[in-house]
Amino acid sequence: MSKKYVYLFSEGNANMRELLGGKGANLAEMTNIGLPVPQGFTITTEACTQYYEDGQKINDGIQAEIMEYITKLEGITGKKFGDLENPLLVSVRSGARASMPGMMDTILNLGLNEDVVDVLAKKSGNPRWAWDCYRRFIQMYSDVVMEVGKKYFEQLIDQMKEARGVTQDVELTADDLKELAGQFKAEYKSKIGADFPTDPKEQLMGAIKAVFRSWDNPRANVYRRDNDIPYSWGTAVNVQSMAFGNMGDDCGTGVAFTRNPATGEKKLFGEFLTNAQGEDVVAGIRTPMPISEMSEKFPEAFAQFEKVCKILEDHYHDMQDMEFTVENGKLYMLQTRNGKRTPAAALKIACDLVDEGMIDEKQAVAMIDPRTLDTLLHPQFDGEVLKKTPVIGSALAASPGAACGKVVFSAEDAKAWAERGEKVVLVRLETSPEDIEGMKAAQGILTVRGGMTSHAAVVARGMGKCCVSGCGAIKMDEENKQFELSGKTFHEGDWLSIDGSTGKIYDGAIPTVDASIGGEFGRVMGWADQYRRLKVRTNADTPHDAAQARKFGAEGIGLCRTEHMFFDADRIPAIRRMICSDTVEQREAALAVLEPMQQSDFEGIYEAMEGLPVTIRFLDPPLHEFVPTEEADIELLAKDMGKSVAEIKAIIAGLHEFNPMMGHRGCRLAVTYPEIAAMQTRAVIKAALNVQAKHPEWTMVPEIMIPLVGEVKELAYVKKVVVETADAIIKEAGSNMKYLVGTMIEIPRAALTADEIAKQADFFSFGTNDLTQMTFGFSRDDAGKFLDAYYDKKIYENDPFAKLDQTGVGKLVDMACKMGRATNPELHLGVCGEHGGDPSSVEFFHRTGLDYVSCSPFRVPIARLAAAQAAIKDEK
Ligand code: ADP
Ligand code: MG
Ligand code: MG
Repeated sequence: MSKKYVYLFSEGNANMRELLGGKGANLAEMTNIGLPVPQGFTITTEACTQYYEDGQKINDGIQAEIMEYITKLEGITGKKFGDLENPLLVSVRSGARASMPGMMDTILNLGLNEDVVDVLAKKSGNPRWAWDCYRRFIQMYSDVVMEVGKKYFEQLIDQMKEARGVTQDVELTADDLKELAGQFKAEYKSKIGADFPTDPKEQLMGAIKAVFRSWDNPRANVYRRDNDIPYSWGTAVNVQSMAFGNMGDDCGTGVAFTRNPATGEKKLFGEFLTNAQGEDVVAGIRTPMPISEMSEKFPEAFAQFEKVCKILEDHYHDMQDMEFTVENGKLYMLQTRNGKRTPAAALKIACDLVDEGMIDEKQAVAMIDPRTLDTLLHPQFDGEVLKKTPVIGSALAASPGAACGKVVFSAEDAKAWAERGEKVVLVRLETSPEDIEGMKAAQGILTVRGGMTSHAAVVARGMGKCCVSGCGAIKMDEENKQFELSGKTFHEGDWLSIDGSTGKIYDGAIPTVDASIGGEFGRVMGWADQYRRLKVRTNADTPHDAAQARKFGAEGIGLCRTEHMFFDADRIPAIRRMICSDTVEQREAALAVLEPMQQSDFEGIYEAMEGLPVTIRFLDPPLHEFVPTEEADIELLAKDMGKSVAEIKAIIAGLHEFNPMMGHRGCRLAVTYPEIAAMQTRAVIKAALNVQAKHPEWTMVPEIMIPLVGEVKELAYVKKVVVETADAIIKEAGSNMKYLVGTMIEIPRAALTADEIAKQADFFSFGTNDLTQMTFGFSRDDAGKFLDAYYDKKIYENDPFAKLDQTGVGKLVDMACKMGRATNPELHLGVCGEHGGDPSSVEFFHRTGLDYVSCSPFRVPIARLAAAQAAIKDEK
């Protein structure tokens, strides 16, 4: 039997989302449970895929099937397409598997032409309604199918209203609307060069095609990327007989939620507009009435609607978002779906539903979108002030939270101003590692260049600091400490507010309020922790971040980078001396200065983690990141080292690398300068011994992680240095403390030879940032330059640095786990790349059998929830 591409609403059900889309499946479900739904049929998502496969054509077979269903619908409704007695009018609506509100297009009142309008006008005795339908249809069809552009029609409406001396659409008479329809058609002809189509079948195929085509429109593509919806899914099309909310004052159209989507309060929430159709409610043409008022004006329809709400919630066990129309006092349901909600509302609703006995705890955990949680952990703008403050620009929402402060242009200024007690927003062309201190001191960071994985974005997310990146509209003049945006020049000290959750930039100061995490948050996380198998650690370099992450439920540190500690003003001279040393003795002398500092850093982190595991990674970045670039600093270093400026410059020049990402870094540093590894080992072990002595109740097992290993012998070499140093200290201390030595798996060769490397390693930690770079062969800092083109051409759908590429990089991870465990069954496995906080990646790591994921502090709750969801899904 050939494939079925069309289903009557009465043939489908809620479980058929993949085929019928969310809207279609729910229209079918509502039909099945006996709710008043104008009947119709759904053309499947497979027909959409087929349309694209056929080169954007609806093939003859599918066209014939659609026409067969029009005939069936005519039978059901007793109306006929294009009929002059009792004409059938339909809406043509998109509907993907996952809801994409407003992203794709809808056409109403399809089936009208001049003759049919006349019939409707006469038969109904309501010519105003008939002509209102017709002008709306021409408008929507022209816009959606022929892409004429809404604005031309809106101008014509405005002119008509002005000519008639009225302000509202509803005040236009039947004759006015008839005249408008004529003007619309003339406009259509002048833009398209052909007459407006009169044949309902032609109209229908045009509309269906337009919906298929809208799957690929730019805003839908962006929405899908933001929401993890694959392009391959396609959209279904719903063809539904019309219910009319525009027939007069006992008609109207509304949207409503069964509970408040902003707060979660259990109270009907929504709006209703009399004598209106379709999007009039949300379009702001007239002010709609709150849904509560509907009970007075439409008591019967409202009573019926309340009943429907109860039935739907009981049926779906979730808060519903509904669209409906009242035609001559009678209610018609046009849509229902699980309503979108704020993160706070999501938590409240989940808890309430559990308390009401509608769902169990597992379902509560499964229904919350982990990605939204971190906004709850950051400060937010005061909603009232926010409404009144003009938006002057928008860019990438790189790191969530709200920030308000005075503009400064350099990291030093940010630090200096903050030390004086000023709140600042750091505005830079882009940031670099030297800016870290300033970024920490600022309330938020705004950059002109850089994408979601730029330095500023990654570092800010790590710190849990608000960041808006890549605002190309800013005309930056760093030298004169000013920039221009939206026609206004901002100087140092001017107030600016930025929202890292939306990417919006505001002129002036908007006070922030600390996010209040009600008891529901903790309750849901507590449930999540019962179900997950993956442990969740954090990436933290400072005691402050470590403590923060503990509050969010981190169960250890999966990645403590040691290099950030070297950038502090009191340490950088020593590391520079180390780099510019000629002899091992000189180098050791410089390292001896750093050692106690590192040791006390580690002690601080161990204290903050209260005996939980901490993985410390040895020095990783190429040394040139530490050397001075400013003339004055170079002179200082020269003096410090007793060398000439020329000599220092020669050393710096010698450190230049053509491709630093693949240069002299990671364990290659320890192989060339084993004394660095020895120093870091002493600092780690001594810190652990001290903390152990102070806290006998903890069991300290330091974990030392060697980065960028690609060959077992290089790991063996560095490990030997570590073990000899560590054992000597432990022995001398008369202790029997255990410690682990492991490696990051971040070079494809390490994954490919994981069986050998596992012989030398107590643990693997997948550094999926570098592993992704090296596997794809492009650097994440440069990927921004071409990824957009790749998205446009559907070569990649997601940023592989944000969401793990499961087919390629994931295969390496999976393979390395299996091979590693085969040679070393005790091997402990984790991941410490950015992916550790991405829900779909976490699900993959769960399936792959890792022991833990590690992510930045503010993503810890996301990972906890995602890990629980993965485990729950797995059970099924
Ligand atoms: P979106 O997915 O953007 O919400 P819809 O397909 O839901 O688009 O259509 C938008 C609006 O059009 C609906 O909310 C409803 O008011 C109106 N509409 C759609 N189909 C019909 C219909 N058969 N009868 C009356 N109104 C309809
Ligand atoms: Mg809708
Ligand atoms: Mg790395």
